[in-house]
Amino acid sequence: MKRKVLIVGGGIAGLSLANALELLCKDKVDYQVIERQRQFSPIGAGIALPANAVSALHQINLEQKVRENAYHVQQIVFTDDAYQVLSNRATDTLHPKHFPFLGISRAGLHDVLLTGPIPSKIQFGKTIVHLSESNNKVLVTFSDGTKDSYDLVVGADGIRSSVRKLSNQDIDEPPLSLGITNWRLLLKKPKTLIHPTYVLGAGSIFLLFPISEHEMYCYAGVLTPPNGISEDERKSIHFMKSHFEHIGDEVKAALDQIIDPSQLIPDQLETVREVKTHSLHMKNVLLIGDAAHACAPTYQQGGAMSIEDAVIVAKLLNAFDALPVEQIIKFYDNFRFKTIQEIQTLSNFVLQRSVQAIDPQSIEARNQKIRQDGPFNVTFWKEYLKTDVFDELDHFIHTRLN
Ligand SMILES: Cc1cc2nc3c(=O)[nH]c(=O)nc-3n(C[C@H](O)[C@H](O)[C@H](O)COP(=O)(O)OP(=O)(O)OC[C@H]3O[C@@H](n4cnc5c(N)ncnc54)[C@H](O)[C@@H]3O)c2cc1C
Repeated sequence: MKRKVLIVGGGIAGLSLANALELLCKDKVDYQVIERQRQFSPIGAGIALPANAVSALHQINLEQKVRENAYHVQQIVFTDDAYQVLSNRATDTLHPKHFPFLGISRAGLHDVLLTGPIPSKIQFGKTIVHLSESNNKVLVTFSDGTKDSYDLVVGADGIRSSVRKLSNQDIDEPPLSLGITNWRLLLKKPKTLIHPTYVLGAGSIFLLFPISEHEMYCYAGVLTPPNGISEDERKSIHFMKSHFEHIGDEVKAALDQIIDPSQLIPDQLETVREVKTHSLHMKNVLLIGDAAHACAPTYQQGGAMSIEDAVIVAKLLNAFDALPVEQIIKFYDNFRFKTIQEIQTLSNFVLQRSVQAIDPQSIEARNQKIRQDGPFNVTFWKEYLKTDVFDELDHFIHTRLN
């Protein structure tokens, strides 16, 4: 009999899981997706997909489609606030299987994830209001009053996950602020911008990231002052621009393109306080993506890990179809927990530290380290991408099957 799986949330994690189950577990799993919103409006303008994200997309046959809609990144450049290059490094040779680094609009990625039969499996405007467990089944009450039971419920419902909260008997802690305010937006790409460029200022960071021949995704982050930033300030173009006016001409030219507050996506960077891949109180509930491990976008691993999580879950469900779901969740934890905990901790620490450089001495120390070691994200990728996670997973599965 097929296993019945409920995926809560139709973001990158939930839709990647739907694709992975469709491809890898078609005869073994029946799944459905519920999405709280009435229609999709992917948040975040653009997204950088490091090679491990592209490797995960390859596992679910979506690499090619994403490539066709994306910008191929060949190099990462870090500059100081005068746009003087501190260091640059190539990205094409970082992955053992030479998967590329890509930049794409969020909407473009979502469109790719919504291909084939996936849209017909999604129920919009629906959420969960209660979870309980009985006889190895999760009993779910939905917001429309209906009830159903599942072999596995996957919380792919983002940083404010209801699955995490409801399955932990409501004792779950709210996300933690990382003390960084940011804005994301899509702008016209200047012809001269070839490589993603990080401009590091005093208490600020501005990223110009090409996502097509004519478009770029920008991420602008500043240290949130101790007395906070009001909602009105966050939405104000003038306020946003005031933090970056003193830095390189290329950033000024980008800022000149911002004429309407609706172009800005303001946000506060937050993290989940503690990585939780499984529910503390329910055996058949698993968390993936931001619901489990939301963190700072330092190494662009949030979306990347979400796609990896999804493929790993599907591969484990396929390989261990005779084992109880509880055991599969334990395998997932054994394989995954340590890595995502390390990435989360490092991502939060490194971004906070580099934005916290405000006085000339700490700015010079930060810049000097980048001159010596290279861009801090490339330094991370060099180590992390030495092995392909799916080769490791195949080995993990093989040793447990034999
Ligand atoms: C400023 C910033 C820049 C980033 N840049 C990058 C980057 O360049 N590269 C990268 O890889 N990552 C990046 N990330 C991280 C990345 O955006 C996230 O890790 C990723 O979107 C997580 O996907 P998700 O599906 O887990 O969660 P989400 O994207 O939050 O999706 C959750 C979905 O679940 C739905 N939902 C929520 N609650 C419920 C509910 N109760 N019931 C039903 N549905 C529900 C939501 O409507 C949403 O559709 C960045 C993050 C930030 C904040």
